[in-house]
Amino acid sequence: MADQQNRKSKTSRKASLDSVRPKKPPRDDEYAQQPPPPTPPSLPVSEYPTARALHAYTAESADELDFKKDDVLDIISDLSKGWWYARRHRGNKLGYVPSNYVLLNNAEVTQQPGWMEITRSEADKLLLQPGLPEGLFVLRPCSVGCYSISLRVKHPTKPNFYSVQHYRMSITSAGLFCISPEATFHSVGELLAHYAQTADGMACKLMKPFPQPPPPPPADLSQLEVNRDCFVMLEVIGHGSFSEVHQAKWNNSIFVAVKTLKPNMEAEQNFIQEARLLLKAHHPHVLQIMGVCTDREPLYIVTELMTNGSLLNYLRKDKGVLLNIEHLLLMKMQLVEAMSHLESLRIVHRDLRAANVLVGEDARVKLADFGLARELDDAGVYTGQGEKFPAKWTPSEAVTKGRFTAKSDVWSFGVVMWEIVTYGGVPYQGLQNREAVELVSKGYRMPNPHGGHIRCDPSLYQIMLDCWSASPEKRPTFAKLKDQLKAYAAEKHRASRRRV
Ligand code: ATP
Repeated sequence: MADQQNRKSKTSRKASLDSVRPKKPPRDDEYAQQPPPPTPPSLPVSEYPTARALHAYTAESADELDFKKDDVLDIISDLSKGWWYARRHRGNKLGYVPSNYVLLNNAEVTQQPGWMEITRSEADKLLLQPGLPEGLFVLRPCSVGCYSISLRVKHPTKPNFYSVQHYRMSITSAGLFCISPEATFHSVGELLAHYAQTADGMACKLMKPFPQPPPPPPADLSQLEVNRDCFVMLEVIGHGSFSEVHQAKWNNSIFVAVKTLKPNMEAEQNFIQEARLLLKAHHPHVLQIMGVCTDREPLYIVTELMTNGSLLNYLRKDKGVLLNIEHLLLMKMQLVEAMSHLESLRIVHRDLRAANVLVGEDARVKLADFGLARELDDAGVYTGQGEKFPAKWTPSEAVTKGRFTAKSDVWSFGVVMWEIVTYGGVPYQGLQNREAVELVSKGYRMPNPHGGHIRCDPSLYQIMLDCWSASPEKRPTFAKLKDQLKAYAAEKHRASRRRV
């Protein structure tokens, strides 16, 4: 029985490999006039590219070559074809081998400095980041069995204007590597060394592979300055009090979001401050700033594009309603990571709402809109006077005394948790801002929204209530909230496994 199963799994594995096998040149018995396979030219063995077998292969006809996994082969024929004519070192036998069962030794490009398993647009995104030097490059896959060099190039006349050029690397029929047919190399290493010495037709020399781990973002805003001519503005995707947000194409390659400030001297300071704090707050769950244009009006803040827009709309739309409890919990956990990071940097956001959280392609959430964010003083306080604030998300001490601390953000986080579990519900529904503020100051708290399609068990609701403690000191820190949510998630996971 076990034997039968073994045979079966072997057959099905073979069948799945067969489906991706390249087409072999027609066999003699199919076409009588077909000439026999070419005899290998009489070059010393070492002149041929060598390859290692990735899988064992059993010959299915006389012109094919059997090999075991890890057998070493010299590849004698044209490498651009699907089946290669090869010499197996073990036993010095000749025959055809399926090219996708073997790996060329000198194709071990993945070991080269600068190798990254990324796409062309990811390379664009990486290399367009401001503050990086010219000549930085990435070596990456481009299509099956083929590679490209992506190179950061400076515009010859325009300041702060960089682009990314992509050079496809080909493998000649003799197994040599080249960017242009005039210069061929035995290995990728030799090719890279050549273009590090001379541009030889490329836009510039290969100066340095993209560092791993990636370099930290620039420390100050001036290094983030990019040339506004590299943007093509597309549709408007959002409006603010003083700004407009456009989708834009950067350098004709990647899509970004560009926030433009309507001319207004007073708001300019705030806009710069927003960009500065966004830069300082760099984190996987904080919107990534990619550049600024401050040379003239209108000022721009360039950020990554979050294709699913604001969390509030996302939760309210069908996609949001279809999100399951685990996903909602994951969003809260991602957000608390970002807030805990801000807490450690002593930055207070002051406008934490689901409308100011953005959702990316993969439903990952990121904290955005740092328009009201401020740095805290040594006592951990920012005192705001006469500034706007989101009343239903702001605790009493901030409303009445203008006293903002990390704990006022914790209060807001409790309201965001409530927005998330209610799929974008309106807090204190039916109440005006003033009425809600007054009720809250008298001790009213929103009840547990659990019921219907809304799931909020008592322990989750208790976390919200803790965030809404009247006394800021009694509210948990974000670091503690992070632990509490992790523990809650672990408990949920255990409970679901018990049910199964
Ligand atoms: P407000 O004055 O209301 O605080 P604002 O001027 O600060 O607004 P943002 O909140 O930053 O502007 O952006 C307004 C809207 O634009 C967002 O709600 C969102 O829908 C959209 N938006 C902003 N940035 C991005 C982005 N990077 N990707 C996708 N959409 C975005």
